[in-house]
Amino acid sequence: MSDAGLPPIGYATRPDAVRARLDGATLLVSNPSNIRWLTSFGGSLGWVVVGPERCALITDGRYAERAAADIESASLADVVDVVVGTTRPQIRDHVIAVAGGGDVRAEADHLTHAQWLDLSGALSLTLDTGTITTLRRVKDRGELARMEHAASIADAALTEVAPMLAARPTEADVRDELEYRMHRAGADGPSYDTIVASGPDNAARPHHHTGRRTVLEGDTVIIDVGALVDGYHSDMTRSFVVGEPTVEQSAIYELVLEAQLAGLDAVRPGVSARQVDTACRGMFGDRGYGDWYLHGTGHGVGLDIHEDPFASQASTAELLVGDVVTVEPGLYRGGFGGFRIEDLVEVTATGARRLTHLSKDSPCLPSPPTT
Ligand code: ZN
Ligand code: ZN
Repeated sequence: MSDAGLPPIGYATRPDAVRARLDGATLLVSNPSNIRWLTSFGGSLGWVVVGPERCALITDGRYAERAAADIESASLADVVDVVVGTTRPQIRDHVIAVAGGGDVRAEADHLTHAQWLDLSGALSLTLDTGTITTLRRVKDRGELARMEHAASIADAALTEVAPMLAARPTEADVRDELEYRMHRAGADGPSYDTIVASGPDNAARPHHHTGRRTVLEGDTVIIDVGALVDGYHSDMTRSFVVGEPTVEQSAIYELVLEAQLAGLDAVRPGVSARQVDTACRGMFGDRGYGDWYLHGTGHGVGLDIHEDPFASQASTAELLVGDVVTVEPGLYRGGFGGFRIEDLVEVTATGARRLTHLSKDSPCLPSPPTT
């Protein structure tokens, strides 16, 4: 683990929490993030079988030592057996042997069609839709501490690096500096490819691939940055204008900020994720900018950078206490550029608690943003 001072994650209760949703069936877990959530094991090849009595983590020889150590440090040694195979066919045979002859469910959103056909020849297989991804939504104290720590690392890196935008760096220079500083501050890595999108064309693309363009006076600049700590992600976006903003730039930035604050305000338990999207989208539509808004308003964050619940007009999810979600409206137009403002928040009993704290009051540079 990256940081000694962080509280432990509550793995011990998880196998039973999964069993409580299985009606006596066995669950075959193949999604790596679900395996990590359940056992803390972070290797790239593994299966977990959650049986009515015991669990098994099945992996290959490369991970034998690590799997045993992870299970031990998660205090799961009494309830999770580690089973090691040396070839993929052997691992498959172990999975079948451990899963046994009863009802077995396999994760619909992860198993490949070829694996499904293969395993269903030997097991009585049905689809499981989201048992663990639903449980994963509610973060415990240890998980929240890791995400908050990751968010604070990204906050600090962007505070230090934002003033550099005024010195004609390339987008890649800014990205490299952010990622270097996050590593130095204790992050295991960036959460995703850091986005630095500048100028009339690049900043108009919500998921611009950071490139070699030089950031110029008058540009709008979108920086989307997160850190990874112990497998847990953070996610934040801030937007800037290099030099004195034009009247249009100021007005559009203010609108994005107003919409983002309305979105944050809408976050509370029991509210539908769709309503959070509507809070932002409605404001843009009312002001004539509806077609400048090119994506949904937010997503859950945890062991995956994009996980349930998603906030868009297609969402059916309702927010829960313990969800960690983003609120990230933005406006984009070729020839203008764009702005997006994104915070990461924990859904609490009374509303939302921000995990990202960097100031967003003004896009102005070169004055550094303050926390
Ligand atoms: Zn982001
Ligand atoms: Zn995001």
